[in-house]
Amino acid sequence: MRIDLHCHSTASDGTDTPAELVRNAAAAGLDVVALTDHDTTRGYAEAVAALPEGLTLVTGAELSCRVDGVSMHMLAYLFDPEEPDLLAERELVRDDRVPRAHGMIAKLNGLGVPVTWEQVARIAGDGSVGRPHVASALVELGVVPTVSDAFTQEWLADGGRAYVEKHETDPFEAIRLVKQAGGVCVFAHPGASKRGRTVPESAIAEMAAAGLDGIEVDHMDHDEDTRARLRGLAGELGLLVTGSSDYHGSRKTVLLGEYTTDPEVYGEITRRATGAFPVPGTGGA
Ligand SMILES: [Zn+2]
Ligand SMILES: [Zn+2]
Repeated sequence: MRIDLHCHSTASDGTDTPAELVRNAAAAGLDVVALTDHDTTRGYAEAVAALPEGLTLVTGAELSCRVDGVSMHMLAYLFDPEEPDLLAERELVRDDRVPRAHGMIAKLNGLGVPVTWEQVARIAGDGSVGRPHVASALVELGVVPTVSDAFTQEWLADGGRAYVEKHETDPFEAIRLVKQAGGVCVFAHPGASKRGRTVPESAIAEMAAAGLDGIEVDHMDHDEDTRARLRGLAGELGLLVTGSSDYHGSRKTVLLGEYTTDPEVYGEITRRATGAFPVPGTGGA
C-alpha cells in the first residue's frame, strides 16, 4: 500500500488541477493521496468527482503558522471543512493577502517608488497576489535588477523597509482548532532549515503535549541526519512519523509518491480523525 499524505493543486500553488492530481496519483501507483493545499479546501469537490477507482482521497490542508517569530506549516487531515472556527481562521489567513500587498505598496510609495496596485494585480494575474508579485513590480520599474534583489533588508525581506507581516496562526491555536473540527495535526517538514529558522525541539515537545499527532520526517527538505534526529524525537514524544512528497506539479522536481507514509501510521490517523472520512474512489462521477 503506497500512501502520499502531502500534495498541492492549483487550489493553492501546485500546477496540477485537483482532477489532474488524483489522476496522476493513480498513474503513479498510489493507493492513498492527500490533498493539502495552503489554507484552503476549495479543491476537494473537483478531486472527489475525478477520483479514479482504487485510489483513496484524504482531505486536508496545510495551515500557515508562526511561533516565536518562526514561520511553520501544519498539515491538518480529515477535519470537518465546514467547522466555523477553523473555517474563519483559514479565511483570515487567505483574505490577508490583498491588504498586505496594499501595505507593501504604500510603504514603497513612501520610499519614493512609484509602484501601483494596478501594476501588482496585473503581474499576479489569476494567482492570489503575494510578495513575489510586488518584487516583480520592482524589477519592472528598474528599482532592482532581479526578483531576488528585492528580497533584501532594503526592500521586501522579512523586517525590510517595505515589509508587511502576514497573518499566520499560532500553532497551538491551530492544533486546538483542528482538533475541535475533528482533524489530525502533523507538523510539516519541521527540519527544513533551507527555508529559514526552524522551530526548536522544545517547542515541538510543547506542541506534542498540546495534542500534536505527528511530524513529517521523510521529506525532500530533510537530509539523512535530520530524518534520523526527527525520528528519534518522534519516538521520545510519542508522535506519529509521516513521509510525503509535498508534490507541487511542475513547480518542484519531486514526484508523487517519492516519499510515503507507513500503512500503520495512516491507519492510526484515520482512527483518530472524526471530522471527515477518507473518500474511496469509485471511478469518477
Ligand atoms: Zn509546507
Ligand atoms: Zn506543502
